[in-house]
Amino acid sequence: MTDICSKCGLPKELCVCDVLEKEAENLIKVYTKKARFNKIITIIEGVPSDDIESAARELKRKLACGGTVKDDQFIELQGNHKNKVKGLIVGMGYKESNIDII
Ligand SMILES: [Zn+2]
Repeated sequence: MTDICSKCGLPKELCVCDVLEKEAENLIKVYTKKARFNKIITIIEGVPSDDIESAARELKRKLACGGTVKDDQFIELQGNHKNKVKGLIVGMGYKESNIDII
């Protein structure tokens, strides 16, 4: 008897739920917002917490800007880096189609 996935109802060998879940987890959102004193900051959400510190370090170095990791949830960079961040994140091995520039 073939195992059937309880989520999609397909036989396990055809099921892609695990893959979809993984991709959903790694969906990265990049957007800017106004911080105090009318300064623009760039927020990067969705970097896995194992990688977020090293990703933040690399982004700060490559963009030559200040920034911090907030609550292991998102990276905050000083200034508007929306145009450059995507290429840098792809360079770290994330899939371009999973990066959403808002
Ligand atoms: Zn499934």
